Amino acid sequence: MLEYIQTKEEREAFIDKYDNFLFDCDGVLWEGTNMFTGVPEAMNLLREKGKRVFFVTNNSTKSRSSFLKKFEGFGIKAELSEVFSSAFATAAYLKHVLNFPEDKKVYIVGMDGIKHELEAEGIRSCGGEEDSGITDNDPVPDDKEVGAVVIGLDTKVNYKKYSKAFAYLTRNPGCYFIVTNEDTTFPQHGDFYPGAGAIAAPIIAALGRRPDAVLGKPAQNMLEAIRAESHIDLKKTCMIGDRLDTDIEFGINGGVDTLCVLTGITTKEVLLSPENKVKSTYYIDAFEIEEKQPDMLHSTNVIYISNDIKMVPLWKQKAGVDEQPVVWDYHVILFVQKDKEALVYDYDSVLSFPCTVEEYINETFKPAYKLRSEFDRYFRVVPAETYLSLFSSDRSHMIKSDGSYHAPPPNYPAIQSCDEVMNLDQFISMRKNNKYGIVCKQFYKI
Ligand SMILES: [Mg+2]
Repeated sequence: MLEYIQTKEEREAFIDKYDNFLFDCDGVLWEGTNMFTGVPEAMNLLREKGKRVFFVTNNSTKSRSSFLKKFEGFGIKAELSEVFSSAFATAAYLKHVLNFPEDKKVYIVGMDGIKHELEAEGIRSCGGEEDSGITDNDPVPDDKEVGAVVIGLDTKVNYKKYSKAFAYLTRNPGCYFIVTNEDTTFPQHGDFYPGAGAIAAPIIAALGRRPDAVLGKPAQNMLEAIRAESHIDLKKTCMIGDRLDTDIEFGINGGVDTLCVLTGITTKEVLLSPENKVKSTYYIDAFEIEEKQPDMLHSTNVIYISNDIKMVPLWKQKAGVDEQPVVWDYHVILFVQKDKEALVYDYDSVLSFPCTVEEYINETFKPAYKLRSEFDRYFRVVPAETYLSLFSSDRSHMIKSDGSYHAPPPNYPAIQSCDEVMNLDQFISMRKNNKYGIVCKQFYKI
């Protein structure tokens, strides 16, 4: 149990062991609109090796065909028959398990993904996005045609939707209460936001009872659908996900091996803690394993950008608006020089990642743009080895006087070196006499 996959050989042995791979999507393949590095290449590798791939997502905001478009947009090859979502599972459950009557319709608290999947099964619906933006608190009229209420992730949820859902569930005898999935949180924008479970919680509280069915992982509906349609051998199948209480439990309950990927909800600390009872068969830091390249250390520098007034204007930053620069107190980038090529890795830039140094200078610093001299940018160039062994930040600079954070801290531990807990100020400082690297006025001579 809990084997750590780290090397290329371990990854190959893992792939060779299984014929079928079930992938969660959010937090595994992508986060919002950002796909994780190496995912299409890894998917191609699995296809080349003749492996079967299925996508099993609790995200009900999109229909299966919308997911397919998202896969295509990311350059991932997929077929509709390989995509299973909680919205699809919900529609299939209503149609095939409940034999939902044709004269009834479904009230939706959720996005269009649910509506489209219900339509595909010939089930009528109302509510959903049609009721977004309604702010009145008028009485809810009776609607005896509503025979089920389905709740999923709804980023436009409001009191009217809750009032209608509650009214139909309490007034209409036999009205089914169905929740697409109960993920309490949802990863997006580099952070966590309320998930479908949090959207459904007020109705569960108001009714004082659990839903009649929850279709997403860890419930087994999607695994049963995959088995029924594709006849996979569970012993040769592995479920890959980022969330313990949905993905990994789903695999364990279904009798398949599991791989927890640490790019989403679950941290290594939580996974390995003695309190965690949901242990995956394997875990891996990221979907793609980068080969370690020790030689790269000698050609890599960490560059801090700042100045005396701690105001450095930089263009093409993700936080920027239109063509305006963002003024940072300091900024950090990675600079790699290999043979004749020099590349810049800037996580906050809208330029490519990495970016050629020529493009980076022209687009980020705007050399032709006249800045007042106090805004001149200085550069502390720190060799990667020095940075890795000496840099420390306990994040105390991010904490307000009341003890809370200015902004949520990243979901990895603070960086500590052997003998210091906080030396960030010395890396930001553009004074010349300190032990961390050298300070330059010129970024790079082309
Ligand atoms: Mg996930």
